[in-house]
Amino acid sequence: MFSFSERLQKLPPYLFVELDRMKAEVQAKGIDVIDLGVGDPDLPTPAHIVEAAVEAVKKPENHHYPSSVGMLAFREAAASWFEKRFGIKLDPVKEIVTLIGSKEGIAHFPLAFVNPGDVVLVPTPAYPVYHIGTLFAGGETFYLPLLPENDFLPDLDNIPENILARAKILWLNYPNNPTAAVASRDFFAKVVNFAHKNNLIVAHDAAYTELYFDDFRPPSILEVDGAREVAIEFHSLSKTYCMTGWRIAFAVGNETLIAGLTKVKNNIDSGAFQAVQEAGIAALSGDQSCVEEFRQIFRERRDVVIKGLKDLGFEVESPKATFYVWAKVPQGYTSTNFAAKLLQEAGIVVTPGNGFGEPGEGFFRIALTVDKNRLQEALERIASLKL
Ligand SMILES: *Cc1c(COP(=O)(O)O)cnc(C)c1O
Repeated sequence: MFSFSERLQKLPPYLFVELDRMKAEVQAKGIDVIDLGVGDPDLPTPAHIVEAAVEAVKKPENHHYPSSVGMLAFREAAASWFEKRFGIKLDPVKEIVTLIGSKEGIAHFPLAFVNPGDVVLVPTPAYPVYHIGTLFAGGETFYLPLLPENDFLPDLDNIPENILARAKILWLNYPNNPTAAVASRDFFAKVVNFAHKNNLIVAHDAAYTELYFDDFRPPSILEVDGAREVAIEFHSLSKTYCMTGWRIAFAVGNETLIAGLTKVKNNIDSGAFQAVQEAGIAALSGDQSCVEEFRQIFRERRDVVIKGLKDLGFEVESPKATFYVWAKVPQGYTSTNFAAKLLQEAGIVVTPGNGFGEPGEGFFRIALTVDKNRLQEALERIASLKL
């Protein structure tokens, strides 16, 4: 009797349906499945953050509606964290908005600036929300392929003029999910210059800036001259502090862009639970050694997997950041049939690269979200396969 709206009907097919079905089937046989699919850290939130939340839950003043822009104290904590980390001073009132997880902000942002028929430039392969937010706002997605020969950076010089003329937003995400690629400050400078020339908003998803290894430190796009006029950047506590379940994040950047997103939120949500914001304050202003410990754990896991895959003859690069490994499937396989083989013959879940977009075909993604021994076990299982 009721049919879904056209916008729901336009949603891309969920490519992991078949894999999810297969996983359930394999598990039903009693096989011990090693799930390297989900980008959700296995480690608990640090105790000092949990303690702050427990105390905050008890305070009656936190039992009321929060404000959708977020507590000033949370935005101030985000501003000082940002200044310490990137050397940029932000106005917590005009240049920061609190989010109920960055997915919320990313999905809602186009509602503030995209009119029906406007084009949004979206990288592919990518986190699906950039396209979905565009679709829900009535915009048209124009995909920018991220290719290995361009170090998984979009080729801005090859966007057709007629597309550029209609484009409103350019989405970026570095360090990148799923390719684990990173972007330099020079690349961001080129992007900001391009945005000024073409009257574009740059929306940068920076969820993984703190999960870096070795000596590379991912920059914020706001470090670049002129970025404050054209850019909004989405930061999340989810990955940095192992807080995916808490739903707390923030966006920073250009005043008008922040005001537009805040206006959408004023009309849709009533903000993040203040006890969660207090936990966020404890995370951002507390001792940061927990983040260094997480980095060390993921670095060790990365090294185990990269060495293991290389020993088995896989074509793969050691990521400088994120907790993902993006590897080529062996000769003679597609992303889909390789992922199916790993699952059915080795009980291992990986994500087929094409699930993130067509140019991801030929790759698979491993999430380093299980411990070292399980990763070692997964590598041994892969070694025993005939590939
Ligand atoms: C995990 C992730 C996020 C963060 O999502 P939250 O809603 O803040 O938990 C954002 N972007 C990408 C690409 C991610 O992988």
